[in-house]
Formats: sequence, structure tokens, C-alpha cells
Amino acid sequence: YDDHRGEYYEINRMAARFFYDAFTKKANRGYSYMEGRGIAPATLKKFGIGYADGEWDSLYRFMVSQGVEVKKLQELGLVSTGKGKCYDRFRNRVMFPIINTSGKVIGFGGRAVSPEDSPKYLNSPESRIFQKKNNLYGLNISRKAAGDEGFLILVEGYMDVIALYQSGVHNVAASLGTALTENQARLIHRYTKEVVLSYDADRAGRAAALRGIEILRKEGSKVKVLHVTDGKDPDEYVKKNGRDAFLELVGNALSYGEYKLESAKLGYDLSIDEDRLDYMKKAVEIIAAMSPLEQEIYKKKMAGDLGVAESAIDRELALREDRRASQTAEAGRKTRREEDAPEER
Ligand code: ATP
Ligand code: MN
Ligand code: MN
Ligand code: MN
Repeated sequence: YDDHRGEYYEINRMAARFFYDAFTKKANRGYSYMEGRGIAPATLKKFGIGYADGEWDSLYRFMVSQGVEVKKLQELGLVSTGKGKCYDRFRNRVMFPIINTSGKVIGFGGRAVSPEDSPKYLNSPESRIFQKKNNLYGLNISRKAAGDEGFLILVEGYMDVIALYQSGVHNVAASLGTALTENQARLIHRYTKEVVLSYDADRAGRAAALRGIEILRKEGSKVKVLHVTDGKDPDEYVKKNGRDAFLELVGNALSYGEYKLESAKLGYDLSIDEDRLDYMKKAVEIIAAMSPLEQEIYKKKMAGDLGVAESAIDRELALREDRRASQTAEAGRKTRREEDAPEER
């Protein structure tokens, strides 16, 4: 069957071109905004950055003049309708075309250029050609470098991708603001078997990293994690400290196990016995979920870190197994009792 995807790709490509042309006229708020954020012309061109102006219907009028059907513009989320009038959905925004690994423009992210405009980022809605969960921003550009370098750096935002790229770190992509999905992990796995998660240094970024670890590991990827130590995100960090400093953070990124143990520690004061015990229990749970060889490594780390004997961790793991075994047995007895019970009538 034919769901006319080709036509929709073509309309998005025309829109990207339209935004790009407006942007490169330079006397516009989008261009000044990106210039102010230190992005050089070559980088802007590489990512096809554009500008949706502040008029109500510039894109709409252009598309209609080109004979594009309004309902297709609506379906792509380029045009909205209200009070019987059509208007551009993206206005006064820097436009980031989202391009899949086949080079098709599948959607857009638009960043407000005025601080009073909300939301800060507006993305294309899902459509027959755009599913957020199946794509990553920048992977069209970075997959080659990711393959060559042996790993992909995964960040949160468009600007993180662009700033790292400009600094010379080319193996970088973003998960489009959503939590990383299984499909995205599978897509990454096609190009490289290792991912360095570099999400924002805030609470949300840490939580997203912990979830990302599980999804990537399920796909069979090796995972490391870092959070920048200066500024909120990789964009701020690399602008201030440069490429080499960022690559040093990458070199020192924690293995997924170390990161999980470190994260479990947050909020505990290890000089207090109770906190120490609570943390140790959590750590044992984390280690118990690992493969036998990984357990060997992380038991040593935990023992060294907390100044306890590895044999104590072994006994803790054994006790935990015993408890689980007796729980499983109890659950089994319960099911049998229920099966034996006469049916209610
Ligand atoms: P900037 O540096 O331009 O302020 P950022 O990328 O650091 O942006 P974050 O708040 O860290 O902004 O968000 C990370 C990513 O999440 C964004 O790049 C965008 O893809 C997505 N995002 C953020 N806010 C929104 C929103 N309101 N709606 C949709 N997506 C959003
Ligand atoms: Mn954030
Ligand atoms: Mn940022
Ligand atoms: Mn950010």
C-alpha cells in the first residue's frame, strides 16, 4: 500500500528549506540568537538550522503558493487552524530539522528565541512520518563517527549535540527530549555497541540516565555515564571548558555499575551507621542483579569503598538468595492450595 510518505517528506524538506533561507538572511532574531549562543555559520549549515519568523502565516502562504494541500500541512504539524483561519505552528523560533538516518526530514524542533515565549521547545507532533520513539536527533550526522570511535555520546538536547559537534566531538546524538526508548537503543546498536550517557547534571538527567542504562543494556550495549561537572549540560560545559576537557570527562565516565552504586549513595551520610547499612542493602541489591563476573568486580569495589570484608557481602548475597528461595517456595505452595481448593459456585 502507499501512504504517500514521499509527499510528506518532500513537504518537510520544502519547509526546512524555507526556514533555512529565512535564517541565512541573518537580519533576524533566530540568527542573532544562535550567534549569541556561539554557534558558527559552518555548524548552522551542517545541521540545516532555520528560522520561523514572527508572522502568522509566512510558511502557510508559501506552501499554498507552491500548491501544497492544507490538510497535509496540518498533519505534519506545520500549520494549525483556529477560528477558521490557518496559521503557522512555529513562530519566532529557531528551527532544528530532525533528519532520519535515510536523510529524510521527518520533523522539527523549534526553540523560542524570546525568554517569555513558552514552551521553550516545541516539536512536530507525531505523524505518519515522525515517531519520536524511533529516532534520535543528530544520528544522521554522527553514526559514522560513532562507528569509527567505537561509541556514541548520548545527550538530552539539540544544543548539546550542536555544541559538542562544533567543538570537534562528532559522535553525539540526542534522544529528542523523551526518555530513551527500546527502539532508539536498537537503532543505536546498529552503528555502535557502546554508549556514553551524558545527560544534564540535574535530578531529571540523573533519573533519565538510570533508566537509560537499563534500556541500553537490554539491547546488549556497553554503557558508561558522565554528568558534566561545570554548568548544567554538555553544551554549557564544552563552551566554557573546551573539547579536551569534555573528552577527559568521557575518559573518566563511570561504568554502569559504578554509576548505579554512586547514585544509590546520594542522600546518605556514610559516617552514620544507619545510613551506611541502608546504602549497603541497596548496593547488595544492585550487585545481585549483575552477572557472576560483574559481581566479582563490584563486590571488590564495594568492599574497598565501605571498608567491609568481601566475605560479608557474599554472606549478604547468600542470605538474600535464601530469602528469595523461601518466598518462591511459599508462593508455589499458595498456588497449589488455590488449585486444590474446590471451585466456588
Ligand atoms: P537550551 O540550552 O536551549 O535552554 P536545553 O536542551 O538545555 O535547551 P533542556 O530543558 O535541558 O533544554 O531540555 C532538553 C531537551 O528536552 C531539549 O533540547 C528538547 O529536545 C526537550 N525539551 C525541553 N523542553 C521541552 C518542551 N517544553 N517541550 C518539548 N521538548 C522539550
Ligand atoms: Mn534538563
Ligand atoms: Mn542547554
Ligand atoms: Mn539541558
